[in-house]
Amino acid sequence: MSERVAVIGAGISGLYCSYLLEKKGYEVDLFEKSSKVGGRMATIEKSGFILDHGFHVLQTGYPLASSVFDYQAMNCQSFQPGALVIESRPKKSKIWCFADPFRRPLRGIKGAISFFTSPFNLLRVGLLRWHIMRTKDEDIFSQNGQSTQDFLVSRGFSQSFIDRFFLPLFGGIFLESNLRTDARMFKFVFKNMSRGDMVLPKQGISAVPNYLFNKLEHTKLTLSADVKIINDREITIGGKVQKYSRVIKAFEESAGKITRSVWTVHFSAPKSPVKGKYIMLNSNVKTQNKLISHLAVPSDIQPSYAPVDKSLITVTIVGEHAQEKGINSKEQIASSVVKELTEWFGGEVESWDILDIQHIAAALPELSASDFAKIDLNNQNLECGDHTYHGSVEGALQSAVKLVKNL
Ligand SMILES: Cc1cc2nc3c(=O)[nH]c(=O)nc-3n(C[C@H](O)[C@H](O)[C@H](O)COP(=O)(O)OP(=O)(O)OC[C@H]3O[C@@H](n4cnc5c(N)ncnc54)[C@H](O)[C@@H]3O)c2cc1C
Repeated sequence: MSERVAVIGAGISGLYCSYLLEKKGYEVDLFEKSSKVGGRMATIEKSGFILDHGFHVLQTGYPLASSVFDYQAMNCQSFQPGALVIESRPKKSKIWCFADPFRRPLRGIKGAISFFTSPFNLLRVGLLRWHIMRTKDEDIFSQNGQSTQDFLVSRGFSQSFIDRFFLPLFGGIFLESNLRTDARMFKFVFKNMSRGDMVLPKQGISAVPNYLFNKLEHTKLTLSADVKIINDREITIGGKVQKYSRVIKAFEESAGKITRSVWTVHFSAPKSPVKGKYIMLNSNVKTQNKLISHLAVPSDIQPSYAPVDKSLITVTIVGEHAQEKGINSKEQIASSVVKELTEWFGGEVESWDILDIQHIAAALPELSASDFAKIDLNNQNLECGDHTYHGSVEGALQSAVKLVKNL
């Protein structure tokens, strides 16, 4: 008879772990505390809009994720490679377009001569891209640790360019306000952005865990199950003890490592304020201590995100940055965000309605240099999840692979 294993937590890591266990011939009982699968990759529908729980994209450059997911089956659509950078000015905001010169040569060259920064910084971006693309993924994670900020300085970037470009982009991805995230993670994300696209599935980001769930053939799922793990072989559920050949923990308690938080404000608008399918970065977030990191219009990428005559605008605010500014309520977030958006887009913002303000307290893990140093060691614990690897969909999937390989 085949062994029966319990997997606790049906986020991306628990779902993929269950899939791999099935393939290895185990019988799997998957338990999830909430009423649906997917964990942090959640989506709700409201007033005809698709609202992801925090701005969330898939990266087609992720090597494991692209072998696991079928982007076409999920009807994924991509952002343009590159970004818009906005700077608010007393009369009219200035917007620069940084298309990826390697994939959009004409637009890239136009952006390069637009005087947002010195040509030397742009040349350094090109050199950095060339250098990182030539480094194998496994070599990225075996390098010595340093902060992203120190790494960028060591590559010769001016502090002004770091503050106006890298900070709003990568601070908004890593959900922190000073680029202290280990440079290995920066290189990994930068490489994936260079070799792939940021995409959104038609049905919202929860389509990603749902895709995995649909691949499970005989795993037994129990929802709304608050499980207590007693040891590697026993759990309690509903006061009853259940025994397994192994118990796998695919979550992190909120008091643990997953501490980086984020605020997201979703607006309904009559039309998109952005030209082109780009994410828009706030170059003033550090230089003028502003709140917004970046803005995106998901409905420009995936029209299904909004009703026909509307646009969905999603604004991201890094939690610790809001905290540093003493902003910690939905009312304060709403008024500060609307004020900043009015500086960018003028009276147009009066026609926008707030659909939802989300605060995600446990969004990403805080991983130290020593956590990254352990990444390539064999995972002997019966635990997976992005907190055991690195804070991304790819990290969550990889953590499951490592665990199942070592069973
Ligand atoms: C706002 C936001 C934006 C993000 N953007 C990106 C992005 O653009 N690209 C990217 O790659 N990554 C992104 N991420 C990170 C990515 O979503 C996570 O790395 C990934 O979803 C983590 O999956 P997981 O399985 O490790 O954990 P989780 O998704 O946290 O899953 C853990 C599951 O365990 C359940 N659970 C907890 N305790 C118990 C219990 N006692 N019993 C039963 N079940 C339990 C939880 O309910 C949850 O469903 C983002 C995350 C957030 C929050």
